Amino acid sequence: MQFLPAAFLLATSGLHVLLAQGAPDPLKQQPVPGNLDELRRTARMIPGRRPLRVNVLKFAESRRTKNFSVKGAAPEPSIQARTVFQVVYADGYIMIDSGMDEQVHKTFGRGVAEPYDFEAAKQVDKAVRGARAIVMTHEHGDHVAGVIRTPSVNEIAPKTVLTKTQVQTLLTNPQMPEIKLTEEMAKRYIVIDYEKYDPFAPGMALMKAAGHTPGSQMIYVVLESGVEYLFIGDSAWHMDGIRQIKGKDAPWIKEDEAALTTQLTWLNGLSHTEKNLVIVVSHDDEQRKQYIERGLLGKALE
Ligand SMILES: [Zn+2]
Repeated sequence: MQFLPAAFLLATSGLHVLLAQGAPDPLKQQPVPGNLDELRRTARMIPGRRPLRVNVLKFAESRRTKNFSVKGAAPEPSIQARTVFQVVYADGYIMIDSGMDEQVHKTFGRGVAEPYDFEAAKQVDKAVRGARAIVMTHEHGDHVAGVIRTPSVNEIAPKTVLTKTQVQTLLTNPQMPEIKLTEEMAKRYIVIDYEKYDPFAPGMALMKAAGHTPGSQMIYVVLESGVEYLFIGDSAWHMDGIRQIKGKDAPWIKEDEAALTTQLTWLNGLSHTEKNLVIVVSHDDEQRKQYIERGLLGKALE
């Protein structure tokens, strides 16, 4: 067969002809960051009753403009909520992320005082202490400081699950000196390692998602009712990042942008095809309010 320009082939004969020509398969070339069916299967592996509901609590805010969260967005005010999530079972609960104390919160304002809700922070601390387990979307200060800098660390560390990669970052390259771990401190936590998926609890599975940080993971939860959640941590800071497949534009963070683009593309696809899946963006304050209104997230910790 005579060589024809790819554009001509696409225009006239469809993709299969292009593939027959020996051109690279675009589907094979794109690294797929995850598979929802694998997550569903993994979340079924630990027997037991699945969770009943999920709660969220906002304990602090960053007052930023949207263009930092979504590249190309208008520089209009956009609140970044600092949040934790509580996965409630019939006989206990698991916390996703652990909050942060005021001192760590201040480092995020970079000189500007931003709201910190002491009452809510107290509730976060109490919930973390009462949890069966605490698991982290990633190793940044606003998510992990609550299990590192807490006066209750003796009680909390033995039920806090960190991945090996998260610990590695906290040992060698922490986001801020306040959350740096020593080898001695790291031994107090439950440290896990897995290849891609990990069964965590009944109806709950972890998936590696390096990109925003090396230790980022997404957390899948399916309730008794069948409603599914995917906690994506900071892979996006606002749902618009997923809707538009646009990364952040924040000069103070260093990310693996290529990895994040594949994650955003995957999540964008899921948002269209999986109507039963609730994608939870840690810092999207508008989404938090909408999900509370729709009854998808409870607005208080219990
Ligand atoms: Zn964050």
